[in-house]
Amino acid sequence: MKSVAVIGASLAGLYTARALRAQGFDGRLVIVGDERHRPYDRPPLSKDFLTGTTGQDQLALADAEEIAELDAEWLLGTRATGLDTGGRTVLLDGGRSLTTDGLVIATGATPRRLPGTPPTGAHTLRTLDDAQALRADLARGPARVVVIGGGFIGAEVASSCAGLGHDVTVVEAAPLPLVPQLGDAMARICSALHADHGVALITGTGVARLHSGGGENRVTGVELTDGRLLPADVVVIGIGVRPHTAWLEGSGLPLDDGVRCDAGGVTPLPQIVAVGDVARVDGSRTEHWTSATEQAAVAAQNLLAGSTVARHRSLPYFWSDQYGVRIQFAGRRLPTDTPRIVEGSPDDRSFLACYERDGHTTAVLALNRPRPFMRLRRELARATQPATT
Ligand code: FAD
Ligand code: NAP
Repeated sequence: MKSVAVIGASLAGLYTARALRAQGFDGRLVIVGDERHRPYDRPPLSKDFLTGTTGQDQLALADAEEIAELDAEWLLGTRATGLDTGGRTVLLDGGRSLTTDGLVIATGATPRRLPGTPPTGAHTLRTLDDAQALRADLARGPARVVVIGGGFIGAEVASSCAGLGHDVTVVEAAPLPLVPQLGDAMARICSALHADHGVALITGTGVARLHSGGGENRVTGVELTDGRLLPADVVVIGIGVRPHTAWLEGSGLPLDDGVRCDAGGVTPLPQIVAVGDVARVDGSRTEHWTSATEQAAVAAQNLLAGSTVARHRSLPYFWSDQYGVRIQFAGRRLPTDTPRIVEGSPDDRSFLACYERDGHTTAVLALNRPRPFMRLRRELARATQPATT
């Protein structure tokens, strides 16, 4: 393989590019990204970057030396707009194109939006530019912030805004947030963090529309489907994401909530792999930092081999920081698995829980117990599967 193009210059794209070089690929490596920034880390955007304790210079995923070592051509501020059916020519905006032997699809995901054009003061949060815009809005002074969606973005942004002294309300359509990720009992404990810190959580109601007015068409309120109107100066919409696959429509690649690929990240065209949030790996798509980085090495190996010689089998893992509490989860749980507290107490917001099925642990959850969590995570990984085969 003489050339590889990586589309998506972020976490999954960078890690795959690094893995290709680490595994001996010495051909032409082109990295295409529609953002104007070099790869940066997203998790701080809803946490320390929003509160101002982490600066932009601390977000870089690679320093200048690492960038030079990668020996790649960077096409930043450039969007891939299409892929020919043979999978060897990527169309770029501005009428350009890029011919390549191997292709890494790492275009991630984009926030779901409410219908209509958002007024000034209504934000989604995915990119550094989004975070800067939100930060600037919050710096205008004490604000009534309404966060739509009580998932990860919602909870973390609510926590950061409350920490900055704003008056925060979270609106969640489901009866309880985080149930798909944690199950009912543990989701209830984590959602209680909002009330602990004076943040109102309204559940079981959707949003009918945003109100706005004035010359700036600035948001003034959030009307709920039950008729209530919440006054708002700033609105943050965190209602999930959809994978960035529009540019692949008509390419012949199977697209179905992401790019369908096997457990090694390989698509039906063996010279094309998919990694990170955009990849539907073996029937499921994960939207977490660690999965993106772990999939990268496996996908790189398979791309260079020309077929699936390695499979991604790591235990799913994610963390979230909310109100000074570190939430960590690892494993594969079913809704019927039963959580059991094995250490600490939910009342102290510091505990370790194991999810169990037929007497076996399937997953582990911790609040503010990082060390014992890591031990159990390692044990669980050993007891289930090796990282790759
Ligand atoms: P992305 O990071 O989305 O990168 C995809 C890149 O491709 C983007 O730069 C995009 O602009 C670009 N792109 C898209 N389409 C095109 C195109 N057609 N042409 C060129 N470029 C294109 N996970 C955790 O586990 N823990 C956390 O605490 C956590 N916090 C998070 C906080 C925030 C605010 C966000 C947004 C995410 C967080 N995540 C967290 C999730 C984690 O950041 C993602 O899983 C990870 O970024 C996925 O990496 P990726 O490279 O697959 O996709
Ligand atoms: P998310 O975790 O999927 O949560 C979205 C939440 O919004 C869900 O609870 C959803 O409820 C709710 N919702 C959907 N439509 C709504 C509406 N109209 N009104 C009110 N609530 C609504 O997605 P996210 O929080 O937007 O996060 C986006 C991405 O960033 C995800 O990929 C996430 O994994 C990632 N991220 C991860 C972390 C982390 O791992 N710590 C942190 C931040 C971001 P239903 O489930 O009922 O639809």
